Amino acid sequence: MKRRLSGMYKKLHSAFGPRKWWPADTPEEVIFGAILTQNAAWANVVQALQALKGARLLSFRRIAAADEQALARLVRPARYFNQKARALREFAGYFGSRYNFSIERMRRRDTLELRDELLGVYRIGPETADSILLYALEKPVFVIDAYTQRILSRHGILSMQHSYADFQQLFMKHLRPDAALYNDFHAQLVHLGNQYCKPKPLCDECPLRVKRPFKVQGSTV
Ligand code: SF4
Repeated sequence: MKRRLSGMYKKLHSAFGPRKWWPADTPEEVIFGAILTQNAAWANVVQALQALKGARLLSFRRIAAADEQALARLVRPARYFNQKARALREFAGYFGSRYNFSIERMRRRDTLELRDELLGVYRIGPETADSILLYALEKPVFVIDAYTQRILSRHGILSMQHSYADFQQLFMKHLRPDAALYNDFHAQLVHLGNQYCKPKPLCDECPLRVKRPFKVQGSTV
């Protein structure tokens, strides 16, 4: 499996080049994006981030003092805006009280303990927590998303019935704990899922195509 995953990564990297993900200027901006992108297209998240930037609110210290309804208006393009405004405020409360708004202090925390802590914050599930750990804090934690699950299931590696933790363990058991590798591998899979491994897959043009065609299972993802 180690060779299979490494081979997959090499093919993707050689086809797409380094993905340079996550697109953000600061670790805090990564966290904003990770919270806002839940159930939203990235283009809409960018609009919400620009609105926050324009209002000088792309800082959790400022979010902690911001009016939640005004915040909801700003993040409206990212959908579920009332819940997401609350999620930003709740994260700001947690980040301020626990780490005094310091990314460095947060980074020093033990990874598994921090993950448990993050999972206790309003609207932070495994994918959001792991995105924060990997992309904002550079911890070697593999992020799983719907694209990754679809690609691996179509290649017969794990079925869609497996849990988030099963998919994550597969990568983390067989790849060295390297934040830069996990960062780019996940970003490659997102790009692959977005461009080729769609609900109707474009296998003939895909960098992961195999010589002998395999049966592709459909997906509503
Ligand atoms: S598009 Fe086809 S070849 Fe490419 S990852 Fe999906 S199932 Fe595999």
